[in-house]
Amino acid sequence: MNRVIGLVAALASVVLSPDFGHAQLSKPGVEKLYVLNCGEGVAGDISRWSPGVNEGKSMDFVDNCYLIKHAQGWFLWDTGVPDAVAAMPNGLAPADPKAVLWHRPKTLAAQLDQLGVKPSDIKTMAVSHTHGDHIGNVEMFPAAMLYVQKAEYDWPGANNAPRFKPEHPVTKLEGDRDVFGDGSVTILSTPGHTPGHQSLLVKLPRTGAVVLSGDAVHFKGNWDNRGVPSINFNKDQTLASMQKVSDTLTKEKAQLWINHDKAQRDSLKMSPEFYD
Ligand SMILES: [Zn+2]
Repeated sequence: MNRVIGLVAALASVVLSPDFGHAQLSKPGVEKLYVLNCGEGVAGDISRWSPGVNEGKSMDFVDNCYLIKHAQGWFLWDTGVPDAVAAMPNGLAPADPKAVLWHRPKTLAAQLDQLGVKPSDIKTMAVSHTHGDHIGNVEMFPAAMLYVQKAEYDWPGANNAPRFKPEHPVTKLEGDRDVFGDGSVTILSTPGHTPGHQSLLVKLPRTGAVVLSGDAVHFKGNWDNRGVPSINFNKDQTLASMQKVSDTLTKEKAQLWINHDKAQRDSLKMSPEFYD
């Protein structure tokens, strides 16, 4: 009898051991990452993002989306400025002239089409937060599972409107989430810019680890100086989230790709080129 119990215990230890789990997951995780042009614009006054610095100066902004090819399927991070803006000759002017006037030189739809990816091919997606330059095309993917922090989902919009269509499939998160269960794509809870803001850690086979900032930081100057935009929801949370991103960069030896930083984007390979 003792030998039977011993055998069961030995089998259980094999099944439960982390090494066994790794062997199961040794197939490639993330295969490719495409950087998509999801908007280009001009900020009227960049001191809106860096209080007391560069008052009255305008600055070029960009807006990226990121399409990830994982062995388990396509995953889209952020959806950018609405594709409809591409048809507006003067772009989309903001209510506050200090904010960003957006243009859409290329649509998201056209960039997916160029890659041979149909919107219905994308089964999972996430947005960093619910500002208009990040959620502009969520409903191009009405059946895709959307990963969003519960705090963001429940944050009342203008006139108490919901942030997303109630019928859109959603997984509400309360913290970090390993999307595919293999550690290759991890949503990082980074609140502060908005109540449920999130960033993304991606581990590429050749490029290595990359953190996609969302709007945890808007441009490199603010990253270097820990500048907190006056428009942010919570300053202390923003600073804590910047520290979390910084700690993640150190731990994972990761690069930080800042969504709205034009100088950095000008140095990146844009779709249809890709990172692997
Ligand atoms: Zn934002």
